[in-house]
Amino acid sequence: CSLAQGKITDDEVFQGVKGHSILDRMRLDGKVAYVTGGGQGIGRAFAHALGEAGAKVAVVDMDQGKAETVTRELLLKGIPSISITADISKSDDVQRMVDTVASKWGAIHIACNNAGINMNSASEDTSLEEWDRTFNVNLRGTFICCQAAGRVMLKQGYGKIINTASMASLIVPHPQKQLSYNTSKAGVVKLTQTLGTEWVDRGVRVNCISPGIVDTPLIHSEDLRPLVQRWLSDIPAGRLAQVTDLQAAVVYLASEASDYMTGHNLVIEGGQSLW
Ligand code: NAD
Repeated sequence: CSLAQGKITDDEVFQGVKGHSILDRMRLDGKVAYVTGGGQGIGRAFAHALGEAGAKVAVVDMDQGKAETVTRELLLKGIPSISITADISKSDDVQRMVDTVASKWGAIHIACNNAGINMNSASEDTSLEEWDRTFNVNLRGTFICCQAAGRVMLKQGYGKIINTASMASLIVPHPQKQLSYNTSKAGVVKLTQTLGTEWVDRGVRVNCISPGIVDTPLIHSEDLRPLVQRWLSDIPAGRLAQVTDLQAAVVYLASEASDYMTGHNLVIEGGQSLW
């Protein structure tokens, strides 16, 4: 029954959300989330954002110390949190992660599949080992997480999956040497589009966020540091993104305010993909 079919009035549409301001509809109270790669950088910022909006948050990372540190930060803010050590490229680890979250809090409403790695060889020197490692984490790992969390969400009839892709899924940042990374992230976008359309009528929305260049430890690797200055001149906004620039997007995609979005690639790059 819709306004377009002439069966309800626009007043009635608004009455459906009466008493719920747009900010209320972005709250995540009572929701259960996990964030992979939550131990630092973008994932850490996502974990804080989801927790501040009301969700319980499992911080997942292959680095146990980092996951525990972020969990402590959340607990200090009064946000219910646990840490889980898992490598997302290993299906047993991912299943254990999903089982741990679901048994601790009884559901998984928000799956934030954010962990990823970057390697930076010239294409002619990219070894199969580098290619496989990048794809195992970035694409295969994201798929394993989507499938394991998606199975729980499909049973619940509700869920929000948010994958972290990259602006590099759309453009080739210049001067570039990131064949395996760019290609794996393009795969994350297609994975998101496919799952997002396949599962939406069963209550599971799947979207991704494509950050531009974000000031995290990832870009301060020896390989990438020399490229950062060059990239800076390619960003219309005139600066790198900070992790805080991405926080509202993850809350929005995790909330009921974005229920009509699925399979979407939300690009946040200070205009860089347009130049
Ligand atoms: P980061 O390297 O600062 O942090 C990544 C975290 O993920 C680390 O804590 C690491 O221990 C963890 N991790 C790595 N491999 C893992 C695995 N197999 N299993 C579990 N945890 C694992 O990276 P970041 O900059 O915060 O990037 C996070 C995501 O955002 C990645 O998917 C990355 O590709 C993407 N991204 C980053 C940028 C950027 O400029 N920083 C831009 C676009 C997209």
